[in-house]
Amino acid sequence: MLKGIAASGGIAIGKAFIYQKSEAKVQRRTVQNIAAEQKRLDDAIDAAKRQLKAIYEKVKSELGEDKAEIFETHMFILDDPELIGGTKEKMQKENVNAEYALMSTAEKLAEIFKHMGNQYMAERATDILDASKRVINILEGNSNLSLSDIENPCIIVARDLAPSDTAKLDREKISGIVTETGGRTSHSAIIARSLGIPAVLGIDNATSYIKSGDLLIVDGYKGTVHINPDENLLKTYEAERKKDIEDKRLLLRYKDVESITADGKKVEINANVGGIEDVEEILKFGPDGIGLYRTEFLYMAKDELPSEEEQLAAYKSIVEKMKGKPVIIRTLDIGGDKDLPALGITKELNPFMGYRAIRLCLDRKDVFKTQLRALLRASAYGNLKIMFPMIANVQEVIRAKEILEECKVELARQGIEFNKNLKIGIMIEVPSAALISDILAKEVDFFSIGTNDLMQYTLAVDRMNQKVSYLYDFFDPAVLRLIKMTIDSAHKANKTVGMCGEMAGFVPLIPVLLGMGLDEFSMSPSSIISVRKLITGLKYSDCKLLADKILSMGSSDEIKKHLKAFKTSNYKI
Ligand code: PEP
Ligand code: MG
Repeated sequence: MLKGIAASGGIAIGKAFIYQKSEAKVQRRTVQNIAAEQKRLDDAIDAAKRQLKAIYEKVKSELGEDKAEIFETHMFILDDPELIGGTKEKMQKENVNAEYALMSTAEKLAEIFKHMGNQYMAERATDILDASKRVINILEGNSNLSLSDIENPCIIVARDLAPSDTAKLDREKISGIVTETGGRTSHSAIIARSLGIPAVLGIDNATSYIKSGDLLIVDGYKGTVHINPDENLLKTYEAERKKDIEDKRLLLRYKDVESITADGKKVEINANVGGIEDVEEILKFGPDGIGLYRTEFLYMAKDELPSEEEQLAAYKSIVEKMKGKPVIIRTLDIGGDKDLPALGITKELNPFMGYRAIRLCLDRKDVFKTQLRALLRASAYGNLKIMFPMIANVQEVIRAKEILEECKVELARQGIEFNKNLKIGIMIEVPSAALISDILAKEVDFFSIGTNDLMQYTLAVDRMNQKVSYLYDFFDPAVLRLIKMTIDSAHKANKTVGMCGEMAGFVPLIPVLLGMGLDEFSMSPSSIISVRKLITGLKYSDCKLLADKILSMGSSDEIKKHLKAFKTSNYKI
């Protein structure tokens, strides 16, 4: 049994599929029979083209020709005389193996493309490397490496899954996720939860212990993975999996219940969405609204930046489907663990503290204005609110609002409709913002507390690093105090305050957050009904006393101990 971080609840039982992005250095070997080696290369190229053709056909029929085009481009690349001719020449000249010659020729060509000073050519550099890696994987005997090649339902085991990889996962084919890196609030974990895929992250060397084809049990509640379990354990877990599905089904009766405590305090229980989920699926859980729409996945889905019209279509569709319920759409929050090659951001030493989110948008006014115009236009079709991420000081809010005003003036001049009373909010996720929340509250209509980042910045603990994940503690008193400070500042200015970080759906702390006065809880859609069940059974008056008590405590151990007692005496989870 392996132990990791319980990142997405649920039980998965299935065969392992080791997904390796071939980042390991290709070995150089001396080869005597070059003719045979060249034949090996030709065969691998043919096999790669067959794979690409199959993927092309499938993507074309399922997602359309434009999405499939990239695989056709990769097929052309594998016919390119500079790449393939150059590789063969290198093999001949240096008596080296095919994978080494191909890798070095591809890298050289990619470098040339990258420095042509043109975005389009720079993207082709990635394509050259991707297409060549496919051939190298085949040469190295790893024929089944691409996520889009997965045919049978399986459990993905990977060293690392980028949020863009996770966003592409097909829930029908992937029943569980196991990775070596990542924490509970890494974006891969967040997406896994919103897709309802059980996940255990942060297991050191998982890809060495587990082989493709091993039978695995992934327990996303306990954070455990069993490899090739015996009959008894398998039976126990099969029963547990059935019970888990049944429990979730039973909870559905809380779908249409009002979000109100036993003593009459109304709150909003909203959904966090990544724009990749099916809104119909989300509606099954009966959210009161959408508390966070992470727009970056819309940007990450394509090689080029989405146009104003494309964005308008996405935002309009979601507000219409929510039929007047509030939809908080967050402006682009790229950076950190979310990369967007189309923006050409250079690698940074501290990406979470670097050029990201509002900082990038205020710098790239062109990108920002396209999004703001699309959001304003979509606001004419439903209850849309705009939220700015990663605010660190008041000037950023003022500047963002100025640019928004510019867009409003332009649209009005063009006679294009938008909601003139559109509500503007900011995320409180940098400690400086919590500390000046009284000042910020005057500038906006609402706050939403982003605990995922607020915790990492307050405690100086990288949310992606499992080695320090013990510090990433939801019960930490420092973070709870910043939350209370933020809630009080908002209320003093008569503004509402929500939370869209993962803490908002963390059951043991919900009575405390409720007692502190939080107005809105936004979480992964699948948590909504259990949280609603909990809240309807709580008394706000009890929770206020509880929150006061918790805020007087100095250590997370003390807080946990006290909450355990509260839990048993007042409600059942
Ligand atoms: C947060 O930081 O809590 C948040 C909701 O934003 P993200 O997880 O996308 O950084
Ligand atoms: Mg954040």
